[in-house]
Amino acid sequence: MAEHIGVYPGTFDPITRGHLDIIERGLKLFDILIVAVASNLSKTPLFDVAERVEMISEAIKGYPNVRVESFDSLLIDYVRQKKAATVLRGLRVISDFEYEFQMALINRKLDPDIETVFMMTAENYASVSSRFIKEIAMLGGEVGAFVTPEVEKRLRLKNSLMKGGR
Ligand code: ADP
Repeated sequence: MAEHIGVYPGTFDPITRGHLDIIERGLKLFDILIVAVASNLSKTPLFDVAERVEMISEAIKGYPNVRVESFDSLLIDYVRQKKAATVLRGLRVISDFEYEFQMALINRKLDPDIETVFMMTAENYASVSSRFIKEIAMLGGEVGAFVTPEVEKRLRLKNSLMKGGR
């Protein structure tokens, strides 16, 4: 039987324990899960693509069926190129829904054969977002509960580099 490949796309700036929770859940649905780091975003990320990929590689070391890659094309084209048929996204709170719903509908228009599936995060990660973690870390706050030790280290380093650069 053909392998069932899922693609979990996002900015991952940086990867959080909430993302890892979705990855673990996704592994129950897919034989192979590709974490796909979007590089062509209008957002200005704190970490460049290579740094984001490195942090994810470190975080997924214990999962043999998870891979990480970056992509700069249209998501749907990337998913087809990977011979995957499913996009995985995480949902935390109601406010995630509208954006995710629109994106899923647009992607369905672009390719009706590719499905988007949503998984609900664990309750304790419902308030965890890369954005808040960055804000807390850049103000010198403690983020160890929300990210891996490697990510925490990199956030601390960024913080001191940014302060040094002022
Ligand atoms: P994007 O900029 O594409 O939304 P993110 O890196 O912020 O990328 O998120 C990628 C996916 O992971 C999105 O589906 C988002 O809803 C989901 N996600 C983000 N944080 C969490 C979390 N704490 N729990 C579950 N899902 C999450």
